[in-house]
Amino acid sequence: MSMQTTRIRRDDEVIIIAGRDKGARGKVIRLMPSEGKALISKVNMVKRHTKPTQNSKGGIIEKEAPIAISNVQFFCPSCKTGVRLGAKALEDGRKVRTCKKCGEVLDS
Ligand SMILES: [Zn+2]
Repeated sequence: MSMQTTRIRRDDEVIIIAGRDKGARGKVIRLMPSEGKALISKVNMVKRHTKPTQNSKGGIIEKEAPIAISNVQFFCPSCKTGVRLGAKALEDGRKVRTCKKCGEVLDS
């Protein structure tokens, strides 16, 4: 079983389990494995000041900032909570991720 199989991926729905945004849910926008961080939609929003350009007036915009992947868990739609990921091989040989709590197959 490869480690890759049990990892969170882009577009996964996740829940934040620690820190300022604990309990918040969002989709994984980007993973930064070398830094151990991820960008999650609408989580860890920070204000950025932008200068006016031809296309925008500038001002203050809110943007996601990366958070530690260790503070993120996969959100299982059946359990309605953050869960750890397991893995299993299907009959056709494909490896899919499963919920360690309820056993549900999470990859289609
Ligand atoms: Zn589950």
